[in-house]
Amino acid sequence: MSDLQNTQDDVKAENRIFPPPAEFAAKAAISGMDAYHALCKEAEQDYEGFWGRLAKENLTWHKPFESVLNESNVPFYRWFEDGLLNASYNCLDVNLQNGNAEKVALIFEADDGTVTKVTYRELHAKVCQFANGLKSLGIVKGDRVVIYMPMSVEGVVAMQACARIGATHSVVFGGFSAKSLQERIVDVGAVAVITADEQVRGGKHLPLKSIVDEAIAMGDCEKVRNVVIYRRTGGQIGFTAGRDLWMHELVANQAADCEPEWVDAEHPLFILYTSGSTGKPKGVQHSTGGYLLWAKLTMKWTFDIKPDDVFWCTADIGWVTGHSYIAYGPLAMGATEIVFEGVPTYPNAGRFWSMIEKHKATIFYTAPTAIRSLIKASDADPAVHPLKYDISSLRLLGSVGEPINPEAWMWYHRNVGQERCPIVDTFWQTETGGHMMTPLPGATPLVPGSCTLPLPGIMAAIVDETGNDLPNGQGGILVVKRPWPSMIRTIWGDPERFKKSYFPEEFGGKLYLAGDGAIRNKDTAYFTITGRIDDVLNVSGHRMGTMEIESALVANPLVAEAAVVGKPDDTTGEAICAFVVLKGARPTGDEAKKIATELRNWVAKEIGPIAKPKEIRFGDNLPKTRSGKIMRRLLRVLAKGEAITQDVSTLENPAILEQLKQAQ
Ligand code: ATP
Ligand code: MG
Repeated sequence: MSDLQNTQDDVKAENRIFPPPAEFAAKAAISGMDAYHALCKEAEQDYEGFWGRLAKENLTWHKPFESVLNESNVPFYRWFEDGLLNASYNCLDVNLQNGNAEKVALIFEADDGTVTKVTYRELHAKVCQFANGLKSLGIVKGDRVVIYMPMSVEGVVAMQACARIGATHSVVFGGFSAKSLQERIVDVGAVAVITADEQVRGGKHLPLKSIVDEAIAMGDCEKVRNVVIYRRTGGQIGFTAGRDLWMHELVANQAADCEPEWVDAEHPLFILYTSGSTGKPKGVQHSTGGYLLWAKLTMKWTFDIKPDDVFWCTADIGWVTGHSYIAYGPLAMGATEIVFEGVPTYPNAGRFWSMIEKHKATIFYTAPTAIRSLIKASDADPAVHPLKYDISSLRLLGSVGEPINPEAWMWYHRNVGQERCPIVDTFWQTETGGHMMTPLPGATPLVPGSCTLPLPGIMAAIVDETGNDLPNGQGGILVVKRPWPSMIRTIWGDPERFKKSYFPEEFGGKLYLAGDGAIRNKDTAYFTITGRIDDVLNVSGHRMGTMEIESALVANPLVAEAAVVGKPDDTTGEAICAFVVLKGARPTGDEAKKIATELRNWVAKEIGPIAKPKEIRFGDNLPKTRSGKIMRRLLRVLAKGEAITQDVSTLENPAILEQLKQAQ
């Protein structure tokens, strides 16, 4: 029952504008475009003054900073470097002091629906006890700790406890294999691993601790002195005496108070590996002060968070979204947030909507991949359609992780937002620490599929291959012209790769290169992400982003998801190859041929004959990273008919490659 009327309009909806609802704007932190422009202007006129003011107003410093930005060793920028603070203190103690002690911090819903609520006072005590436990193991400031845990209160506690004692955490998503885990343990040089016996997802128990054992047994993990285990299921696990400890035993006799370790603002709060959509994952190092400032401020600006909001970010703590918008940002704001253990399709694909109903969530933040799969699910089974639930508590929606196709945006807007809730399409990266470009819900008129404008203080621009500015209306390379507080500090252990990847000499060494292509609208100056730089197609001399063709395909009523890549072609230079997942079953034989022809004609009509895919292959799914992003780099290899020799450690569903190898 997904509503597919106006699908054709949707693709061409770039000029369709949804102004912020007056009632929303009236109460918003940044209300109206004048307020937005005033902040932008403040940043332009006095860049350091702007950031210095925000850092003073939003963070509690143990020792105030005097230096705002040190640019003496470009691109290794240092923010607030002579200030001392603690991230956990800013997220917990501050809330005990300002009247939030008895406020619920976490609403944890387990896979089976069991709900546990934790107040700020309780969370503070748990974090302090665990921090003391970690200290008792000899873990000190600057040590690295790998966290390989399910979505849980304990996962958040583990991150905050590391922050409290100045240990740098590196969270590894619980879906990763032993090999990927081992590589990360070795790369960061972890002294301890925090894990659980098992995790529960979609009614199934899945191992964690045994994978840690396997990873460590692979070698080069001698630095790991301890493995701390949270007992989630009580399932059978191996236990290495002297190395392994139960979390509940470790905290049993610990004091519920722990003096925070005051660290300088540049102290590495965490190292997190990127998703691996475009290559081998990079260990992105983040700071304490600048990072926390932006995690908190974007909660205010982008999510317009208010004291009585119930905030729900559906990401996993294994991704940067789960760091900034679960483990740190909401807590720094003293917000109430939902933490969900399970999956969106269990016990049925109405799980998100029923949880919004149950917990009266007001802000909901998820990924386009989840939205597309729930569109498909509610099409197949109207009983799990969002409008079958009472989701009237919602006031704001968000999207993150990939460009959202205008058709999916419209569905989200109509069926989840009830045409009432603004949608913040937040463009950012593991490397950026927090949102970069996004609408402000009480200010920015929305355009489906566009992340609209940079946040105040973020100097985003579009340039050509030589770093020169391009006019609006001309697609190019997305860059950021000035450093900002929450930016990546380095790639852990590989400063040269950091420089080369993000501040290449070809661009003068001072422009931050995001790796994405973008275009600005001629009239509105809004940004639209056109895809990764590597994904730009060149067909008979016409440069095209993959995103536009994918969005045209997704707007066809038959299509659930699509990915487009180029393949070498003798006549056109590059030919378009589309991988398509239908809402219904995967077609074969004549039916596949018929639908492929239909879709080719559809694209010709929507965009133009030049965009017509030369080849269309159908699959039950697309190859995705474990965070749900389409891995076009693998599809490029398949399109060429070559064997895959690249890094596939972050590929979620390897079996799908076999299916997509076959041309129809
Ligand atoms: P790797 O860097 O290892 O290839 P990755 O880039 O997928 O992996 P992330 O940092 O998780 O790792 O993802 C950031 C990327 O996600 C961005 O560069 C962009 O391509 C995409 N992205 C995130 N949010 C949006 C959005 N709102 N609109 C468009 N693209 C987005
Ligand atoms: Mg990236």
